[in-house]
Amino acid sequence: MPTYQYACNACEHEFEAFQSFSDASLTQCPECKGEIRKVYSAVGVVFKGSGFYKTDSAKKTTASEPAKTTPAAAPTPAAKTD
Ligand SMILES: [Zn+2]
Repeated sequence: MPTYQYACNACEHEFEAFQSFSDASLTQCPECKGEIRKVYSAVGVVFKGSGFYKTDSAKKTTASEPAKTTPAAAPTPAAKTD
């Protein structure tokens, strides 16, 4: 059964609720009957973080390829001047 985490907009009370898909979403804080919002689990945040690092290393690999072309082209006009 999926676990949903909720946080109250009014009193910041946080709690988890075990709900099946057929259950209606909770809308009331059990503490103060205020409006609550769904909080996405920390797993999603960790997943985003690893994705960031993957993108970062991929950028470096791509950048090294055109970098090879630039130093090779530079000596050619220098030799012409001499
Ligand atoms: Zn509350």
